Amino acid sequence: MPSATPIARTVSELRQQVAKWRKSGESIALVPTMGALHAGHLSLIGIAKGHAGRVVASIFVNPSQFGPKEDFKRYPRDEAGDLKKLAEAGVDLVFLPSTDEMYPAGFSTKVSLPSLTDDLCGAARPNHFEGVATVVTKLLVQCAPDAAVFGEKDFQQLLVIKRLVRDLNIPVEIVGAPIVREEDGLALSSRNGYLSAAERKTAPFLHQVLAETAASLANGEGCDAATSAGRFKLEGKGFRVDYVAVRDPETLAPLFGPIKGPARVMGAAYLGTTRLIDNLPTAPKNR
Ligand code: AMP
Repeated sequence: MPSATPIARTVSELRQQVAKWRKSGESIALVPTMGALHAGHLSLIGIAKGHAGRVVASIFVNPSQFGPKEDFKRYPRDEAGDLKKLAEAGVDLVFLPSTDEMYPAGFSTKVSLPSLTDDLCGAARPNHFEGVATVVTKLLVQCAPDAAVFGEKDFQQLLVIKRLVRDLNIPVEIVGAPIVREEDGLALSSRNGYLSAAERKTAPFLHQVLAETAASLANGEGCDAATSAGRFKLEGKGFRVDYVAVRDPETLAPLFGPIKGPARVMGAAYLGTTRLIDNLPTAPKNR
C-alpha cells in the first residue's frame, strides 16, 4: 500500500511545502485537475515526473468555468478515490483548496483572451475560458512550478494556457500531453460517465469521424468539404454537432482549401445532454 499523499488545503500550506523543496534545490511540476481522476489524468502525472523531481496535483472543481445551465452541481466528485489514485501514482502533494480559498469575498480579477476563445468551445460556452484562464493563472502563481502539464484533449484550453503564460511572463514551461483513449477510441473524460449505455456505444464515432476527416485532409481534400462530410456523418449517427473544424495548431486560425502544413482537426458534439470533444493532428501526405 502506498502511504497517503500529503494534502495542502490552503495556499499558505502549498507555498510552505514548495519553499522547502526549493530550498533543497528540487524542481516542481504541477498537474491541475478537477478530480474524478482517470487514466488520462494519471498519464499527465507520469509526464510531470519526467519534467521535475516533485509533482503537485491540484483538484478543484472551478465554479467560474461552468455556465449557469451547465453541470457544476452534478460534476462527479470522489475525493477519497482520487487521493488513493494519486498516492498510487506517486504524487508528492495534493492541493485541494476550497472555493473560498480560491475566490475570497471581493474577488474581482479576470484573465481573458478573446482572440483565442471567441469561437470553437468558447462560442458554445461563454465565459468558460475566462474561468479556466483565471483559475490556471492563480494555480501557477500559487504553486510557482517549473513545469505544468495539460492534456491535448482540451486543445483550445492548452493553447489558451500557453498564450497567457507567454503574455503574462509567468516563468513556467507548459507541457502538452497526448490524449488517452479507451480501446474503442473514445477519449477518456470525467463526463463519459453521464452517457447512457446506447450513447456510450455511439460515442467512439466522434473519434472515428475526426480521424476520417484528418485522413481526407491529408489526401488533399479541402477543409470545407472535409468538415462538412464529418458533420454529416456525425449527424447520421445521432450526434447533435456543435462544430467540426480544421485549425492552425499554433494559433487556432481557421484554415481554407487543402491544408499546406500541420493542422488540427477539432470536434464537439452532443449525445443527449452530454457534450463530447475530441481532436487530432493531421498534415498533408507527401504525394
Ligand atoms: P479535467 O479534470 O477534465 O479538468 O482535466 C484535467 C487535465 O487532464 C486537463 O489538462 C485535461 O486536458 C487532461 N485530460 C483530460 N482527459 C484527458 C485524456 N483523455 N487524455 C489526456 N489528458 C486528459
